[in-house]
Amino acid sequence: MERSVQIIVHGRGNAWPVLLGETHPFYDRTDPRDLANASFSLLASRSGSVITDILIDAGHGTIQSLITGMNRIPDTICLTHGHMDHTLGVDWVVQSFRKKYGDTAAYPIHATLPVFRFLVSSYPQLAGLTELRELEPGISRTVGNDDSFTLTAYPVYHGMSAQGASMLLFESADHRLLFTGDLITPLLRPSDYKNLKNTDLMVVDTNNRFPYPGANHWSFSGKPGDPMARGEYLDQYLRWLSPVDLAGIHQPENAGRAVRSYFGTFLQAFDPAKQPFTILELIRKITPRKVVLVHYSGAEDLKYYREPILTAGELSAWANRTARAAGIRSEFLVPSPGQLIQV
Ligand SMILES: [Zn+2]
Ligand SMILES: [Zn+2]
Repeated sequence: MERSVQIIVHGRGNAWPVLLGETHPFYDRTDPRDLANASFSLLASRSGSVITDILIDAGHGTIQSLITGMNRIPDTICLTHGHMDHTLGVDWVVQSFRKKYGDTAAYPIHATLPVFRFLVSSYPQLAGLTELRELEPGISRTVGNDDSFTLTAYPVYHGMSAQGASMLLFESADHRLLFTGDLITPLLRPSDYKNLKNTDLMVVDTNNRFPYPGANHWSFSGKPGDPMARGEYLDQYLRWLSPVDLAGIHQPENAGRAVRSYFGTFLQAFDPAKQPFTILELIRKITPRKVVLVHYSGAEDLKYYREPILTAGELSAWANRTARAAGIRSEFLVPSPGQLIQV
């Protein structure tokens, strides 16, 4: 029987989709589901029944979406990084698991070692209740019942407070999906671009349309009116940036052999001109078929470029238009909260 793969979008928001006392054109402040942080279930089903249920990140609103949806405990949580808007719901999942399976059962978390350490230092009670299934950069491991997927973590740079942050590639015989998590730039070796090529779906951090690296996020395009150029804020940032700084947050010198060797190759091959610092720059290299835009804010677009913050409809129309103008054929969509995407 053919296996089907779906994603459920529990939330599409950035860390604070709507600030208290304010409104935001993109988010409906009267719909609690639209105040959730970006988080997803990756489901594999056979004959209509779920065989694997993987939760990718768990911030505000994730649990409410799980309970009001299928109301089951995910088999595992895979974390892109340790920030609160990606981890706040982990405890609720773990406690549900413990109440159901007893005190001796440890809940499996897939994460890099630094992300797991960040998690248990933020929520110390989780140390004794969870079990790390460690992700090492560029090394695949199976995840899910029936070994439904292989999972590979690729390091990203997401500022100095996101040690171990990674994008997550899930692959099965007939599906390949990439979740970038938050980032300013992916830290990929030349061979990794080949592994990431032509995914069915990429879910991507779209905090802003235009670059402002000080926000610790990349942007969709490089410059208003000229998407593949690099505007002044990005130029300025690249002037002082060294690849050693990018890799440094992952502390390769103190880490195990896999991490050291990964970053050794990354540093050797680093070329700032070829290093992707926007969504379009990465897409040009890896050509995903469909791209799901999440974690939108637009605050820096307004503040530093005087460009408006868009509604969801406007953002997807603008993204498709801008990508076409740059000769990119991927299809872009902005999901609604709770949306099920058939892959
Ligand atoms: Zn975030
Ligand atoms: Zn973050």
